[in-house]
Amino acid sequence: MVKLLRPTLKAAAYAATAALAPMLMRGLPGSRLLILTYHRVLPPTHPAREYEEQGMMVSAQNLEMHLRLIGGYATFMHLDDWLDQRDAGATLPRLTCAVTFDDGWSDNYHHAFAVLQRLQIPATIFLATARIGTVLGFWPTTLGRLLLEAWQQDNHALLEALADRLPLIRWPKSVLITARRAVAYEVIDQLKKYYLDQDIDAALTLLAAAQMRNQQPDLLDWEQVRRMADTGLIKLGSHTRNHRRLNARLGSELLDDEIGISAMEIAGQTGNHPGGFCYPNGDASSEALHKVRKTYRYSVLNTPGINPLGVEPHGLKRIGLHDGSGATVNTVLGRLACAYLGVGN
Ligand SMILES: [Zn+2]
Repeated sequence: MVKLLRPTLKAAAYAATAALAPMLMRGLPGSRLLILTYHRVLPPTHPAREYEEQGMMVSAQNLEMHLRLIGGYATFMHLDDWLDQRDAGATLPRLTCAVTFDDGWSDNYHHAFAVLQRLQIPATIFLATARIGTVLGFWPTTLGRLLLEAWQQDNHALLEALADRLPLIRWPKSVLITARRAVAYEVIDQLKKYYLDQDIDAALTLLAAAQMRNQQPDLLDWEQVRRMADTGLIKLGSHTRNHRRLNARLGSELLDDEIGISAMEIAGQTGNHPGGFCYPNGDASSEALHKVRKTYRYSVLNTPGINPLGVEPHGLKRIGLHDGSGATVNTVLGRLACAYLGVGN
């Protein structure tokens, strides 16, 4: 019930505040930085929409609608260019918008890049570098796909194998069609609570390999990354190597690998050291924060909000837009107004 109520309240908050957005964006004194977060950019009928989390997906049409709408109020700029100009004491626009994509999905190349080129809008893609150019993907996507297939095909052997390898949570054997997505998300949430990402990865790798044999890679390859970076429109940042959550349970050695080696891989593949870092799941232990500060110019979190001119470059706030939170002009405006007002996010 709480889960049902919250989106309704959010929708009500967006509807009530949408009218305030133009006034806030044009009228407030000072300069601000709005950072948008996207993940996957998928056509409305793409098969991945069956198993991917709703908050991960936007259509190219909605992406273009968001950017054209926000372009009426904001100047688009690369995140590190805004920081450079801010630090040099330059006069900045009242509202600057920096566009970011998390993870490094191949659909960013196939569907988002054309929109960004057509509108000449710069963006940063945060890459999980060890996964680029592989069919590995990320465990929540893999597991979502496995679970939906297992329930659809009554594959109890697969569900028992999952329960054997990851026994601390409950694995429902059969689920009504209409509840499958919600139950899959619950299983994923439970796993995040009880297991480390590397243990889940290890448990799923063998099971998933058989199922994924003919799978197309979901993630970018380095050739696609370079083709986008060569235009100057796309910059790369790090999102770790393996998309591990950087909480206190991850050891120092793995932190160095996920934070430091990731930067070296981007520099080696593109010729440029990445400026920024994005924390998977928004998790950041104090040791991770320290290492990220030493390696990167700036870092972004999943905390919603608009950044003031004097903002500290580590822990920048962002606004996540997807087909749910950005279905119409009014929902986008409401989302922005709520971020300005610090409510409803
Ligand atoms: Zn991510």
